[in-house]
Amino acid sequence: MIPYGRQSISHEDLAAVEAVLRSDWLTQGPAVPRFEAAVADYVGARQAVAVNSATSALHIACAALGVGPGSRVWTVPNTFVASANCARYCGAEVGFVDIDSRSYCIDAADLERRLQAARASASLPDVLVSVDFAGQPCDYEAIAKLKAEFGFRVIEDASHAIGATLGDLRVGALPVADITVFSFHPVKIVTSAEGGMLLTADARIADSARRLRSHGIERELTRLENKDEGGWYYEQQELGWNYRITDLQAALGASQVARIDAFLARRRALALRYDNALAALPLQRPWQRPNALSAYHLYPILLRGAEQRRQVYERLREAGIGVQVHYLPVHLQPYYRAQGFAPGDFPVAEWYADRTLSLPIYADLTDSEQDRVIATLTEVLR
Ligand SMILES: *Cc1c(COP(=O)(O)O)cnc(C)c1O
Repeated sequence: MIPYGRQSISHEDLAAVEAVLRSDWLTQGPAVPRFEAAVADYVGARQAVAVNSATSALHIACAALGVGPGSRVWTVPNTFVASANCARYCGAEVGFVDIDSRSYCIDAADLERRLQAARASASLPDVLVSVDFAGQPCDYEAIAKLKAEFGFRVIEDASHAIGATLGDLRVGALPVADITVFSFHPVKIVTSAEGGMLLTADARIADSARRLRSHGIERELTRLENKDEGGWYYEQQELGWNYRITDLQAALGASQVARIDAFLARRRALALRYDNALAALPLQRPWQRPNALSAYHLYPILLRGAEQRRQVYERLREAGIGVQVHYLPVHLQPYYRAQGFAPGDFPVAEWYADRTLSLPIYADLTDSEQDRVIATLTEVLR
């Protein structure tokens, strides 16, 4: 089976993990700050805090921004459920904004309409979780203007988008984002098996995130409330969790970051090959924002409708090609329906979800494997 995404593991990755196994530290050792520094340097972020998943990173991000019962957090339906669930972990209420039909990211015009309505009813959101879908940055020029006018904070869920750029900046260093979150799950651009990271320019948010990933415990002398107890002393200053990443995972992640430019170049080359090979077929290829460069976590095509999508999905799966659907609209998941959301609430996200199909794209996908995907898809659509 050719999957839609998978990891690329080198001899260097194997050696990096083995070196940790032979060292004194399996967790909370030197590989974690090494991984954090490698990612922060690459994207141009001031602070980086590694954790055991992007889901944990999103939870910590909400908590560090003060999200709690009575808060409102908005995101889009076209995302993985974790982008919304992070708000629920904190007891906040979730709202959604529709996507636009070209980028499949948040529709800034719909966001503005909903913000105006929310202001009229005194129910403005505290936080927007923006999702850089498929690896492409959102329309952050428009979002920055709305942020200034309406005063919400931004958590950029860049689980798909490490290595993407907007203008001259890499995702992770965009000023609009109070916190950016990356995922290092094996299907993403770089992997640490399980893993995630928060990036921020704000040292206080980073300090808070470091405490929250480890029970809310502070050991840094200058930040202790009682200072002269002794070397064994620590304080639990707030309620946190055990969201720590291991040194095994961090060593793998740091080793992978050394190859990120090669990963991105291969994904972009594969996307270009798809763009050319699929141009004459009756389907919609992904659109790219002119001032941005996608990391191409996904290559989603749009088919005629739900019925054709199902046929194409089944024919490709039978041929050993692991196409996938990203995403079922989050607001239509039973958990969110139970909170009052219903079909028709976000028509563009629902229209998109009925006809989208993600084709295989990952660094180790060979030209001949991709040619087989293209040939099979061409035959099925003929
Ligand atoms: C993968 C993903 C997550 C969750 O990542 P984990 O590291 O598996 O927790 C969150 N948001 C989006 C958009 C994702 O694609």
